[in-house]
Amino acid sequence: MSADTNKVVYMDNNATSQVAREVLDAMMEYLTDSYGNPSSMYTFGGLVGGAVATARKQVADLLGCTPEEITFTSCGTESDSTAILSALRTYPDKRHVITTRVEHPAVKSLCDNLEILTGQKHKVTRLKVDSEGMLDMAEYEAALSDDTAIVSVMWANNETGVIYPVEEMARMAKARGILFHTDAVQAVGKIPINLKDLDIDFLSLSGHKLHAPKGVGVLYIKKGTLFVPFLTGGHQEHGRRGGTENVASIVGLGKACELAGLKMDEENTRVRAMRDRLEEGLLSSVPKSMLNGHKTSRLPNTANISFEYVEGEAILLHMNRYNICASSGSACTSGSLEPSHVLRAMGVPFTAAHGSIRFSLSVYNTEEEVDFVLDKMPAIIASLRKMSPFWQE
Ligand code: PLP
Repeated sequence: MSADTNKVVYMDNNATSQVAREVLDAMMEYLTDSYGNPSSMYTFGGLVGGAVATARKQVADLLGCTPEEITFTSCGTESDSTAILSALRTYPDKRHVITTRVEHPAVKSLCDNLEILTGQKHKVTRLKVDSEGMLDMAEYEAALSDDTAIVSVMWANNETGVIYPVEEMARMAKARGILFHTDAVQAVGKIPINLKDLDIDFLSLSGHKLHAPKGVGVLYIKKGTLFVPFLTGGHQEHGRRGGTENVASIVGLGKACELAGLKMDEENTRVRAMRDRLEEGLLSSVPKSMLNGHKTSRLPNTANISFEYVEGEAILLHMNRYNICASSGSACTSGSLEPSHVLRAMGVPFTAAHGSIRFSLSVYNTEEEVDFVLDKMPAIIASLRKMSPFWQE
């Protein structure tokens, strides 16, 4: 597990995750022999339809809801758009949306475009976060209005792992007769979710974040919630989403949800312990390093750490020499290095926001990999700092 052996040390699971072997095995049948259309009347198709039904039940079991509340989509982004646009079409007279300043672009861009495309006829409230990434519930309560069509707040943040109080926020929205959507793409499979008694109307998830393939997602639509489809066409998915089902990936997602249920304890004990050891080790061995995000209200697999006075992309390039994969909180846009909107919303100082690295682990990481990263990182940061005009020993 070093540059010598060329083994990849993959700590970027919030970007995408390895397809589990069991998931691939479950899918193979539907990529080879059982290729029928699940909507066909004959037995050959019906058997495939049965596999989709099994997957629907597996997803529902992980979320604590009924199979009828599960609609398969192509990805998390589609699920997010479908939920928000459905609410706006259901209540065309309501022109207000509440979201946060730290959403994934799947929600952020939709809300930005909504204001632009409707010539500001739709208004979006973007709730502020504090330096730990947490929301101000008084600001949220004050924002809820009779004109609000939907609230969309992520369950957990993809960059920092910060977990939001969506159960309580959904209850508050419901009390005002307002629909509530949560982008749970990062939360599903990492923390327990039980939708049964919650006031959440819509929830989005994505297969490739929980060891299923890319290109499959789910929109949970609570029983009784009014819904207008986004993709119209055939009668697939009970008329809620047109398009022939991506059967093999759906079967894979079902299996991944079953596995996630079984591995939830490991995620919250072994993975959490590895993450904590990595985080504490880096913070203690690298001077001028700091954690971004709340210390405890956080996903068990995510550590976002800023190394002051160095550039995130430069750090990643050096890590790449050892085949260590992680993400940076800054992206190169139009020639200038712009820190992420999430870190900016948290008010992370300029010198720290630029040097942020997100490590996101999974059940496939090992203690040896953590040792390896802890061994390499201090020297990488020290060598880059030597080149920084801002760094003083
Ligand atoms: N929402 C969150 C919080 C995410 O992290 C992502 C992917 O990174 C998405 C939505 C988009 O999911 P997909 O890639 O399946 O469209």
